Amino acid sequence: MVVSLQKPKLKKATRTISGVTPVAVMAKPFPCPGECVYCPSSPDAPKSYTVESPAVLRARKCNFEPRKQVELRLKTLADMGHALDKVELIVMGGTFLAYPRDYQYQFIRDCYDALNGIPSINLEEAKRLNETAEHRCVGLCIETRPDFCGEEEIRSMLDFGATRVELGVQTLDDDIHRLTKRGHGIKEIISATRLLRDYGFKVYYHWMPGLPGSTPEHDLELSQKVFNDERFRPDGLKLYPTLVVVGSELENWYRDNRYHPYAEEEMIDLLIEIKTLIPKYVRVPRLMRDIPSKFIIAGSKDLALRGTIRKRMSQMGLQCNCIRCREYGHRLRDGWIIGEPRLTRIDYETYGGKEIFLSFEDANETLFGLLRLRINKGFHTGSNIDSALIRELHIFGPEVPLGEKRTQAAQHQGLGEKLLWEAEQITMKEFHIERLHILSGIGAREYYRSLGYKLTGDYMAKGLQP
Ligand SMILES: [Zn+2]
Repeated sequence: MVVSLQKPKLKKATRTISGVTPVAVMAKPFPCPGECVYCPSSPDAPKSYTVESPAVLRARKCNFEPRKQVELRLKTLADMGHALDKVELIVMGGTFLAYPRDYQYQFIRDCYDALNGIPSINLEEAKRLNETAEHRCVGLCIETRPDFCGEEEIRSMLDFGATRVELGVQTLDDDIHRLTKRGHGIKEIISATRLLRDYGFKVYYHWMPGLPGSTPEHDLELSQKVFNDERFRPDGLKLYPTLVVVGSELENWYRDNRYHPYAEEEMIDLLIEIKTLIPKYVRVPRLMRDIPSKFIIAGSKDLALRGTIRKRMSQMGLQCNCIRCREYGHRLRDGWIIGEPRLTRIDYETYGGKEIFLSFEDANETLFGLLRLRINKGFHTGSNIDSALIRELHIFGPEVPLGEKRTQAAQHQGLGEKLLWEAEQITMKEFHIERLHILSGIGAREYYRSLGYKLTGDYMAKGLQP
């Protein structure tokens, strides 16, 4: 009997299995600067979302008010038995950074107010209150287009306390961008990617195989380019196979015989090939958009595509090396035998700087935690002085409430401190940089304070002494 009582809880356990509880909040529908042919449009949902997507339904129930959305979500998650002391806010909506500036600032403040449980007089105060709140925002993610990701937008995102940005990249072919009326090209992708990394943000790409004008072979070449070319190399990749969605221009193209999606099998083969390319420093959090199948006119309707692909890959003896597939919590749940963590390091070049990816993994590469250190070449000083920034520090495993220890929980066993110490040593000894900056989620600032970091502008910073 106990088993059947616990089942519903376990069913949703993946939501917090990565150590942080995601809370998605959707901005109200607002005209998007884009005219992308594949994008669904409706007056009742923000651009790129369909009216009946689960996230849109939840948001509509709250009249798109951010405070209500966060409160409702927290309540639902609490009822399901999730720990809620570490939250990642995910701001959804067409192109949030193209919304009126006042709306953006009020929206983010309302989200913090909801987490804090008390109103604030302004965004600054809301952020300060969140540093010690019951529900701490340890990460904030914003979706945007590469052409809405310049210095001005970066300034806003720093004000918001954002830590991760999802760029709608879709493809790395300018002809396809033109054909699909994307409104920007590769140039903007390169510039946005570099700027985001320079300022310490994590960068995820949205990637769309099967766009008009492409072929599976070409998509594979472009996917190789994403990781082989130092101007790209994102930290995460969301794979969104192109779908013909109700209300998109692509729907007309499809009906006029001007566009056909790849056959199901062809797309699955391609996705498997793309997944085998993924470097160990990349996370693939999602495969497939959250679009109800009745809105999909053509293209894959398999919302469980991720599982289908994983099964196929294991039959072929292949394995995805991405962060998500190697995370401690997922593997523990799947019955893997977990070994002892040991420190590993990957160095790779990116445009404008060097990336050092530190992680704790066991002999099977099961991932306990990771840290992303960036060495910026002459960052915004106009000089040749390098600077060092931590873009991410994350320990995986089922979420453990702050201050509570459990056996078999990878969090809070000092791995974070060990990774940080290692990053400090590398910064000092290899790069002779005397100061380390961290772009921290607002709710993680106290953690860094306890380790000697101080809030300096938008970053937590510490002087390093040999
Ligand atoms: Zn994976």
